[in-house]
Amino acid sequence: MQTGKIGVTTENIFPIIKKFLYSDHEIFLRELISNAVDATQKLKTLASVGDFKGELGDLTIRVKVDRKKGTLTISDSGVGMTADEIDRYINQIAFSGAEEFLEKYKAQANGIIGHFGLGFYSSFMVSDKVEIITRSWQDGAKPVRWSCDGTPEYKIEDADREARGTDIVLHISDDSKEFLEDHRIEELLRKYCRFLPIPIAFGTEKE
Ligand code: ADP
Ligand code: MG
Repeated sequence: MQTGKIGVTTENIFPIIKKFLYSDHEIFLRELISNAVDATQKLKTLASVGDFKGELGDLTIRVKVDRKKGTLTISDSGVGMTADEIDRYINQIAFSGAEEFLEKYKAQANGIIGHFGLGFYSSFMVSDKVEIITRSWQDGAKPVRWSCDGTPEYKIEDADREARGTDIVLHISDDSKEFLEDHRIEELLRKYCRFLPIPIAFGTEKE
C-alpha cells in the first residue's frame, strides 16, 4: 500500500473546483465518459498496430447506479492504468496556476475544464470520495485501486480485477443525490453522450 499527496499547489483544489463550476456540476459525466472513450480508442489503436494482441471483446462503456451504496460507476474495457501511470496521470496534476486561470476565466470555465486536464477531478464536484479500480492492458499488469476523499491525500493499493479496463466509482455526496436518479443520468447521456464512437449502456443495480 502507498499513500501520498496529490501534487497540487494549493492546499485543497476541490473547494475551488466546486466554487467555480457550481452551476455546471453535471459536466463530470461528460468528462468521465470522454476519458473512458479515449481509453477504449487507445486500446483499439494498440490493437491495430499489433502491440495489443489479445481479444478486444465487448468494448461497451457501462454506467451503473447503485442507490443502496450511493455510488455511480463508469466502467470501460480500455487500456487501464498501472500504478505508475496513475501516479503520472492522476496524482501529478499540474495545478500550478490553475487557481489563477479559473479566476480569470470563470465565465468560460465549463468550456475550459476539459482542456485544462481537470477532467477527471470534476468528479469531486458531485462526490465525497472517488475510487479508480483499474488494470492495464499490458501483460502481467497488477490491478490497482486509487482512492481519494477530496483532500489532496490519496491512497493506492492492490485491487481485485480480472479484466482489463477501468471502473471509476463515485460516492455521490448528499447535495448531489440527483445523480443517483435514472432519469437524470439518462438525460445527461442524451445531452452529452450521443454520437460517441463507443457504445454506452446504462443500468441500475437491482436491490
Ligand atoms: P485529460 O483527459 O485531458 O488528459 P483527465 O483529467 O480527464 O485529463 O484525465 C487525466 C488522465 O488520466 C488521462 O489523460 C488518462 O491518461 C488517465 N485516465 C483517466 N481516465 C482514464 C480511464 N478511464 N482509463 C485510462 N486512463 C484514464
Ligand atoms: Mg479527460
